[in-house]
Amino acid sequence: MKRSLLDHRRLYRLPWSLTDNVISWLEPTKECNIYCDGCYSANAKGSHKTLEQIGADLDVFERYRQTDAVSVAGGDPLVHPEIVEVVRMIAARGLKPVVNTNGHGLTPELLRELKRAGVNGFTFHVDSLQTRPGWKGKSELELNELRLEFAERVAEVGGISCAFNSTVYEKTLPFVPEVLDWGRRHADKVHVLVFIAFRAAVQDRFDYFAGGQKVELEKLTYTKAAPQRTDITAQEIVAEIRKRFPEFEPSAYLNGTEKPDSFKWLMTLLVGDQERFYGSAGPKFVELSQVWNHLVKGRYLGYVPPSVHESARSLLALGAVDGGLRKTARTWLRAAARNPLRLARKLHLQSVMIIQPVDVLEDGRQSMCDSCPDMTVHDGELVWSCRLDERLKYGGLMRLEPNGKAKANGKTPRA
Ligand code: SF4
Repeated sequence: MKRSLLDHRRLYRLPWSLTDNVISWLEPTKECNIYCDGCYSANAKGSHKTLEQIGADLDVFERYRQTDAVSVAGGDPLVHPEIVEVVRMIAARGLKPVVNTNGHGLTPELLRELKRAGVNGFTFHVDSLQTRPGWKGKSELELNELRLEFAERVAEVGGISCAFNSTVYEKTLPFVPEVLDWGRRHADKVHVLVFIAFRAAVQDRFDYFAGGQKVELEKLTYTKAAPQRTDITAQEIVAEIRKRFPEFEPSAYLNGTEKPDSFKWLMTLLVGDQERFYGSAGPKFVELSQVWNHLVKGRYLGYVPPSVHESARSLLALGAVDGGLRKTARTWLRAAARNPLRLARKLHLQSVMIIQPVDVLEDGRQSMCDSCPDMTVHDGELVWSCRLDERLKYGGLMRLEPNGKAKANGKTPRA
């Protein structure tokens, strides 16, 4: 039997649940100003919710869910004409507003206004399968220039967490280590990197049903546009990263609802300076920070301010309880003995999250992220944001059944 790269029993299972989670996912609009291949949300012009509707969505989060941060997503939230007020409303409830945007509409003036309104962080979605004015056809490496432009703009305002996410396709998988390396060189401005494995409806092997009726998928945004893999796993992304960074050691995860040994959210906390990584924090550190925050503040910990990311040196003292930090401290001290100038450099904590969205199993079951952090609201209920389109287009979630072709080929999806 092939040995798994990661053993979930050696990692910390993040303590998040349906009712007590780090994040909730607010969609103030479905309108977007660019196109991304991997998007699961249909672009709907003028679909902005009113502030009253947005307030009602926030009420649903607060009724059902203990939440640290609210991801303000979409569509692109910056096209909402009252985005500043939306951010202010979230902050006024004592929640951390984090804007998930492609960055295209983020002017320096809007950034300052959002800061005044209480924005806590930005997560910029930048990848090479976007149709972005001025950047179409650029490679992942060329896009680092755009990523840096956003990171510098956010750093200039100060006190705001800066994250980047990108969808990982078969052809961009080899570039993941390059993007991570870019993030490391700019660890003073880039606090979090998120890699999301591409998914789309698997049409060749399954029939789809909603409300007992067979449905065609043309209405859905996430039908497969071009033949490409829809089963990239978090483990494959880790293997790719380790070719370049063997010290990359994930510490915590969320499992799949149908596959307990899959890694749906896989967290790695790297410690390094702008020259190199020295190692990763271990499971005990994540457990300590989650449990401690919950004890003190009643919530699990989501986004932290940039000052925490910059204070990795003081965190090394927790090597007394965490094996990962202990090993990292030893590596750093050995490196400093060779070059004492390293002692003068800041050590950064950089967080890397790998997300493996829905997996389709061979019998048609769909394995979701157990304790999904990105739950949004539809009709007063919490729903998976990645499958909201099914509710909107078909009135309910779809069920998959293997079709004759799958059986004849004896083909099984690699979930
Ligand atoms: S279940 Fe879907 S919405 Fe929830 S975290 Fe996973 S991919 Fe995101």
